[in-house]
Amino acid sequence: MKHQTSLMTCASLLLLAGCSSTPSSVTATDPATRAQQLAQQLLIVDTHIDVPYRLKDKWEDVSVSAPGGEFDYPRAKAGGLNAPFMSVYIPSSLEKKGGGYLLANQLIDSMEAIVGRAPDKFAMAHHSSDLALHFKQGKISLALGMENGTPIEGKLENLQHFYQRGIRYVTLAHSESNHIADSSYDLRRRWQGLSPFGEQVVAEMNRLGMMIDISHVSDQAFYQVIKLTKTPVIASHSSLRAFVPGFERNMDDAMVQALAKNGGVIQINFGSSFVVSQANQWGLQFKAALAAAPKGTDEKSFRAAYLKQYPYPFANVDTVLDHIDYVTKLVGVDYVGIGSDYDGVGDSLPEGLKDVSTYPNLIAGLLRRGYSEAEIEKIMSGNLLRVWRAVEAHAKS
Ligand SMILES: [Zn+2]
Repeated sequence: MKHQTSLMTCASLLLLAGCSSTPSSVTATDPATRAQQLAQQLLIVDTHIDVPYRLKDKWEDVSVSAPGGEFDYPRAKAGGLNAPFMSVYIPSSLEKKGGGYLLANQLIDSMEAIVGRAPDKFAMAHHSSDLALHFKQGKISLALGMENGTPIEGKLENLQHFYQRGIRYVTLAHSESNHIADSSYDLRRRWQGLSPFGEQVVAEMNRLGMMIDISHVSDQAFYQVIKLTKTPVIASHSSLRAFVPGFERNMDDAMVQALAKNGGVIQINFGSSFVVSQANQWGLQFKAALAAAPKGTDEKSFRAAYLKQYPYPFANVDTVLDHIDYVTKLVGVDYVGIGSDYDGVGDSLPEGLKDVSTYPNLIAGLLRRGYSEAEIEKIMSGNLLRVWRAVEAHAKS
C-alpha cells in the first residue's frame, strides 16, 4: 500500500518533471540518478563480505531485513549488489588449536542455508558464468572465498574438498603466519614468504581453478606467489600503502605494478583504517591507550569515552575513490575493483559507504570523476571476472 502511494506521488511528480526516480528506460544525465540506474544494470561483485562469521556470532535471517550488520537482501538489492564473495573467515588462533577444517565447513553450510531458506533470492555461484545467469533470474549470487588457509591443515586433499564445496579463492594467511605463508601483521616471518607446503598450495590452486588471494600476506610471500603462479591473482580486500604509509597490510606501488603485470586485480577495502592514515593512526593510539588503562577496564565503555575525546576520523566516498584513481593512474583501469570488507571492519566504514545499499554512491563518484560507463563496469565487476575466467580456463587446460 505504501509502495503504491509513493508510485502515485512519483508519477504525478514526473509530470512536473521533478521526480528523482527516472524510469530505467531513460538514461539519466545527473550522476546520482544515473548511478542508481547503473547499479541495477551492471554486475556488481564485491570480493569481501564477512557475513558467515557475523552470523556465527549473532544469527539473523539475511534474506529479509537484518539490521545487525551491513548486508541483507533488501539492502543488497537496493545497492545493486549481484555477487558478494562471502568470506569464510577462520581466526588465526585455530592454526595451533585446530578446528579450522570443521569451522570452515560449518560456515559454508551456513551460506548454503541462506540459499535453502530463500532460493528465489539467492543462489550459490561456483562458476564465473553463474553470475550473469543468476542476474537474469533476479537472484543474488553467493560466491565463497576462504580467509585464511588454516583449514587446509597441511593436506592438499582438504584444498580439493573446499574447491568441491565451492570455495573459489583462498586468502593464504590472516593475521598470523600459518603453515602456508607469512602474514603482514606477524613480524616473526616464520617462512620468509611461503612455506614449502605453501608453494604446493599455489600450484594446486592453479590446477584446481581457485583464485589466489594475496591480501593479508607479507610482501615476501606476495612476490613468491607472483613468481610461482601460472594465473592472475587477486587482493580480495586491500588498499594502498601510498595513503597509509607503513601499513604493510596494504599494497605499495611496486606490488600493484607487479600485480598488474601478472594480470591480477586489487579490490579496494573500504575500511577507514585502510583508506586514510589518520584513521589508521587512531586505531594504533586507541590500542595503546587501552593497553595503558587499569586492569579490568571494560573495553566498550572505555572506547565510548575515548571516542568522545578523540572522534574517529572516518573516510568518505572520495577518499575511497582516491585509491581507485591512484591504481588507475599507476597501472590502468583494468586492475582495480572493490572488496568492501562489510561486516568485517566494525564501525569504521566511510561516510556514504556504510552498507551494501551504498554502491550507487561510489558509482556516482566515479561518474563525477570522469570515468566512462565501460570503465565503471570494469571496476564494479569486469576486472575480477576477467581474473576468475582466466583461472578457470587455466584449470581446464
Ligand atoms: Zn581481512
